[in-house]
Amino acid sequence: MSRFSQGRFLISAAAPGQFPPDLGAEVAFVGRSNSGKSSAINAISQRHALARTSKTPGRTRLLNFFELGTHQRIVDLPGYGYATGPEAERLTWQPLIDALKGRESLRGLFMIVDSRRGLTEGDEGLLAWADPPMRAPLRVHVLLSKADKLNRSEAGKVLRETKAALGDRASAQLFSVPAKTGIDEAQRTLAAWLEDKVFDDP
Ligand code: GDP
Repeated sequence: MSRFSQGRFLISAAAPGQFPPDLGAEVAFVGRSNSGKSSAINAISQRHALARTSKTPGRTRLLNFFELGTHQRIVDLPGYGYATGPEAERLTWQPLIDALKGRESLRGLFMIVDSRRGLTEGDEGLLAWADPPMRAPLRVHVLLSKADKLNRSEAGKVLRETKAALGDRASAQLFSVPAKTGIDEAQRTLAAWLEDKVFDDP
């Protein structure tokens, strides 16, 4: 049975004013370009072409919102690490992701990290952004993607090393779409975060 009842594209936002209403719960997916983020979104949401939208030319630099259930959303953020350089990327991104972070609905980040590459500078930049001084940190869960490319002992090693590097900044798990590694675990974490509703006072 599908864990998520829906799975539909809502909107590609180029500016905070285009974000959907700040109701319910949402989880943002971030990762370096080619990390496997779209594949992870499709596998976790059990909608094989859901994240295709984020790949259409013109939408790759936008925040793409998908609905997985009533007032339960995922937000696909642009992949980082290519071409334009970190500074140019940061300038395009910063106002959008800062606005995202200000939303009541945002429950945390799923960060997709290629298990063969490990944490990159871009990932570290986002981890720092998620844990600003003097403010409550945003919850982060790391998916070590493409784990099928590693043998068992390599996969165990990268998981241990990543957990050690992350410390209490994030949780982490192995993930592979073709081998179906960790899909259930990722779905459970996502569902728990999306169900963690904040209710207004009556
Ligand atoms: P994105 O740019 O981060 O959205 O990455 P994609 O989801 O488009 O994946 C980039 C490439 O990695 C594609 O060729 C995918 O088929 C491949 N890929 C994604 N996930 C996996 C995985 O779990 N295992 C393997 N072997 N390849 C994967």
